[in-house]
Amino acid sequence: MDQIIRYLKNSNHILITTHTNPDGDAIGSLIAMGLCLDVLNKKTTLYNESPIPAVYRFLPAVNRVVRNIKNENYDLAVILDCGNLKRIGMAVSAVRQIPITVNIDHHVTNTRFGHLQLIDTSACATAEIVYRLIKQMDVPLDKAIATSIYTGILTDTGSFRFSNTNRAAFSICQEMVGLGVDPYIIAQHVYGTYSLGRIKLLNLALDSIEISDNGKLSIMTLTQDMFNETHTQAEDVDGLINYAKRIEDVKVAALIQEHRNSKKKLNAFNRFHISLRSNGSVDVAAIAASFGGGGHSSAAGFSIESTLSDIKLQLLSMADKI
Ligand code: 5GP
Ligand code: MN
Repeated sequence: MDQIIRYLKNSNHILITTHTNPDGDAIGSLIAMGLCLDVLNKKTTLYNESPIPAVYRFLPAVNRVVRNIKNENYDLAVILDCGNLKRIGMAVSAVRQIPITVNIDHHVTNTRFGHLQLIDTSACATAEIVYRLIKQMDVPLDKAIATSIYTGILTDTGSFRFSNTNRAAFSICQEMVGLGVDPYIIAQHVYGTYSLGRIKLLNLALDSIEISDNGKLSIMTLTQDMFNETHTQAEDVDGLINYAKRIEDVKVAALIQEHRNSKKKLNAFNRFHISLRSNGSVDVAAIAASFGGGGHSSAAGFSIESTLSDIKLQLLSMADKI
């Protein structure tokens, strides 16, 4: 950590980024890191390839997150909440031009990319690691930084319900509340109001659930047709898989999400993202890794180019072994 702090303090222009389709931990960590480096008078660029989901647009300084990287002379890149560098999307080539890359993450499948790493797989969220880094740098926490860290921990622990919920989650959040964070206001922003389309998408998602013969695997499917019909997008999928996970006797839940196809395909294959969740008895990070993805032991994911029926067959054939 000390070496990373030295690099942060000695850099002139720092690029900070996180994974595409960012969640609360990715955005919270990104903003907390950016605000902390402001205090150190560092020039920073906060980047994410995807738009910020509506529920996170209340966060402080969220408008500083840009979607394109200008050709500037960065001397340091900080990559947050990414198990591998490809998770940041198209910016990979730009980041490869930057002399030093720092990898700050909590995924068990982290590939240890970059020149310097700060990886703690026991951290409940990347925001927990960012909190520790800020403390170590002696940067005073204010309400804006506290709001970002609180949101990262709240969302990545599923409101203190998932198996990654640890003592630090409570102690850090308690401290953040002491700095002026209002848990009710944050919960209202993140979980309190959904667009009508999102509720209608929930209806289609629930209707799509299929269960394996042994009852241990549930599959939820979201197609582009469903997104079009409900005027929703990828950010509206957040949390839907938990309905499939909650079903009695289910050990693993899978959510198959069809990607939007940018170009006309010559074959019948489409690109899909598969999210996996387990009740703790099955290591879904290992399953996702076997498909080229990764994540945590009870929440993981991967992308695949295939047909919907073939993906379902592959998932169902796995069900007998769980
Ligand atoms: P979800 O699939 O629900 O978006 O993500 C679940 C967890 O798995 C997250 O912690 C996420 O970072 C990780 N994850 C999802 N997709 C991928 C992937 O394609 N590669 C890797 N390495 N991790 C992923
Ligand atoms: Mn995370």
